[in-house]
Amino acid sequence: MQYQSSRGNSPQVSASQAIINGIAPDGGLYIPEQIPSLSKEDFINWGSLSYQGRAEAVLRRFLTDFTPMEISCCVQAAYNELNFDNAGIAPLAELSPRLHMLELWHGPTSAFKDMALQILPQLLTTSMRKTGEKSQIVILVATSGDTGKAALEGFRDVEGTRIVVFYPAQGVSQIQRLQMITQAGENVNVAGVEGNFDDAQNGVKRIFADQDFIALLAQNNLKMSSANSINWGRLLPQIVYYLSAYADLLQQGRLEYGEEVNIVVPTGNFGNILGAYYAREMGLPVNRLICAANANNILTDFINSGVYDRNRPFYKTISPSMDILISSNLERLLAEVSGRDYRQVNDWMKQLATSGRYEVNEPVRDRIQALFWSDFADDVQTIEAIRKTWDQYQYLVDTHTAVALHVYERYQEKTGDTRTTIIASTASPFKFGSSVAEAILPEAIRAGKDEFSLIGYLAEWTGYEIPRGIRDLDKLPVLHDTTTSPAEMRNTVARFLNL
Ligand SMILES: *Cc1c(COP(=O)(O)O)cnc(C)c1O
Repeated sequence: MQYQSSRGNSPQVSASQAIINGIAPDGGLYIPEQIPSLSKEDFINWGSLSYQGRAEAVLRRFLTDFTPMEISCCVQAAYNELNFDNAGIAPLAELSPRLHMLELWHGPTSAFKDMALQILPQLLTTSMRKTGEKSQIVILVATSGDTGKAALEGFRDVEGTRIVVFYPAQGVSQIQRLQMITQAGENVNVAGVEGNFDDAQNGVKRIFADQDFIALLAQNNLKMSSANSINWGRLLPQIVYYLSAYADLLQQGRLEYGEEVNIVVPTGNFGNILGAYYAREMGLPVNRLICAANANNILTDFINSGVYDRNRPFYKTISPSMDILISSNLERLLAEVSGRDYRQVNDWMKQLATSGRYEVNEPVRDRIQALFWSDFADDVQTIEAIRKTWDQYQYLVDTHTAVALHVYERYQEKTGDTRTTIIASTASPFKFGSSVAEAILPEAIRAGKDEFSLIGYLAEWTGYEIPRGIRDLDKLPVLHDTTTSPAEMRNTVARFLNL
């Protein structure tokens, strides 16, 4: 199977080449030339397979230039009990027979990004071997908080790679920042950017498009690639867990095959929910994909109106991994729902770059609205959702997952739909401990406590265990103290690479 650019002006490439390139030469995102479909038997058979077995089955259909052995090695190296603290890898927690939490945070950094970033380095190094790539790969990452740490953990000391992570210096939680600036590894660099996530992401995109810099890297036998969710190797693993969740529900007798489910995803860059979209295109029976946003509700407005307009204030919220105004992966959805009208996609993306706004045509808007539903939660509603979920189910959720729970409640109020629903639970509650503590701990316990003592109280109060990657974070040495302006990001990379 070959991969094409969502803007239509790049040569088709193999899966391994698409993973190495990250972004297509015309600035578009790679999409598979066709989407493989799954049968009833696939879902039924998966009932008796482990998560790893299911992942292999899905990856084989997309990575057709990989051997089954190569895929198996990648999967086993990523999804094992050294890296994940739950044997199910992406287990379901049942709140009620029709409401299931898909826990995507059992990996080393306690957020769903691990699901893709534990396997991406494996896919990338295998791709390099297959294509005879001799350059060292430099992974450039812009992070709103969780991708950075997950990418650092995934790529640390992976031979043939270097990794540079940029995070918004004032835009991440204390835990997120500590996770990054204490990162060990011979091939890792981290810098804070004076700006928000969009500034960091735009800075990285500028470096990717900088032909002089690309030439300079080439002279030094270096080549850039991306671990952001624009890379197909990031997106593909995110298809697996939705299919796996359905197989689990079939296996548990909670569903009959063919019964449609709703899937709720707290959304920022549109990568996670796009995984669910592709799962549906492969044959997962889905009624609605519910896109839950925070106060940066650009996607809610887009889904409800067909107008994407980033000319609006940017809010810092308590769900920082969703504080995004340019959702890169939406471009892939536009390519798909426009019937791969690449010229049209090109046009919209040009308008977005020049005026910050575009409006899709009616057929595209209608197709999006037939499948997606969207609303948002502000910070007060988010805190309230954490408290309610704890009171009602004794189940503790982080701020991002709480956004999804709030929006799902709105969806039920508005539609009366009581179908079986899967909610993507995207981070451990301890990763955003102070907000979670605010929601459920009495004021008297919280007063004057710092983040780490709050996490301790939270564990005591709930009986939940603090994930090992967070437990002793305040005792690790700080190894990275660089900050940079958006304009200086290229020079910062050059300095890190000794160019
Ligand atoms: C990244 C992230 C999200 C948003 O996912 P996208 O793929 O960017 O839409 C939601 N929750 C958490 C905890 C995240 O880390």
